Amino acid sequence: MYYIKKTMEISASHSLTLSYPSKCSSLHGHNWTITVFCKSKELNKDGMVVDFSEVKRRVHGYLDHGNLNELLEKD
Ligand SMILES: [Zn+2]
Repeated sequence: MYYIKKTMEISASHSLTLSYPSKCSSLHGHNWTITVFCKSKELNKDGMVVDFSEVKRRVHGYLDHGNLNELLEKD
């Protein structure tokens, strides 16, 4: 098995649903450091699990400057 990890920074908003009054219940932003792990049984034709720029495009491109409550909505 082959593994890669990529750490990147995003700026994104969220709000918390809490059982007590808190300013964190309002939509607000943070700078987040996130780490993405990928694994594959085989390397692709270029000898990679996946190109790091593709990981950044998909993950950073999806989450940066977004509302995490909407983007990472639970099922
Ligand atoms: Zn917060």
